[in-house]
Amino acid sequence: DGVIWLDGELVPWRDAKIHVLTHTLHYGMGAFEGVRAYETDRGPAIFRLKEHTDRLFNSAKILSMKMPFSKQEINDAQTTVIRENKLPHAYLRPLVFYGSEAMGLRANGLSVHVAVAGWEWPSYMSPEALELGIKVRTSSYTRHHVNITMCKAKSSGSYMNSMLALNEALSGGADEALLLDNEGYVAEGSGENVFVIRDGVLHTPELTSCLDGITRKSIIELAEERGYKVRERRITRDELYIADEAFFTGTAAEVTPIRELDGRIIGEGKRGPITEELQSVYFDLVRGKSDQ
Ligand code: PLP
Repeated sequence: DGVIWLDGELVPWRDAKIHVLTHTLHYGMGAFEGVRAYETDRGPAIFRLKEHTDRLFNSAKILSMKMPFSKQEINDAQTTVIRENKLPHAYLRPLVFYGSEAMGLRANGLSVHVAVAGWEWPSYMSPEALELGIKVRTSSYTRHHVNITMCKAKSSGSYMNSMLALNEALSGGADEALLLDNEGYVAEGSGENVFVIRDGVLHTPELTSCLDGITRKSIIELAEERGYKVRERRITRDELYIADEAFFTGTAAEVTPIRELDGRIIGEGKRGPITEELQSVYFDLVRGKSDQ
């Protein structure tokens, strides 16, 4: 039920369909966002709307897909979807995709379409995961679709290895995967950035093999505001094994502690004190209890 914004129109959920020859369905070139609106005293509040819309437009530009709408129109589409579907809180999914005019790798002349769907999806990680932390496994799949030129694009085509990695981790009894880059350095989770804490200092992979995450940036700012040092640099897998604390960040995962990697217990094997502090200030921020 409900409506989806599709190319400027509000379409009933069940009618928001595409043709089977949709180009993006075949070759995977498309861009998307995962945006969250939190329930606040003042109604649903979209967290970092401008940053998500900017990243969507940057993704399209990097992929050479010409956006047929303005940023203002895409922002309005997201607030409209929340309002028209009467969502108290929401996960929003803007998607940019090529039409079905032609097959083949030449993208010339293909139409570009935009959809914005929204639904209630209160939690990606369980409350236990947020409190106790999750078990992670280093993946045999690498994050090779995201290289130095692709960190700024959240593109549909770069999620194959993330899906393979997550499914590999789940079938191996873990909760989430950690992907390495081509050279063996730590990249990110299947849909999260990663942070390591040692001796009170936060470390996170530099933007060469991971998505330029909006939650990552918020956490860096929050941590620095609270007096912590944050270093963006290359991180090796064994640094996680001997870390005091580690956590994932993402719009869906929020701030999720990592309690175990590849059978090694990280720190005390539970949410560490700095992780807990940052998680709490992050929740205050997204729920509008502090200045955004
Ligand atoms: N890394 C990947 C591969 C993702 O898909 C996401 C989710 O969007 C993130 C990191 C976290 O990014 P953000 O905090 O902008 O949601």
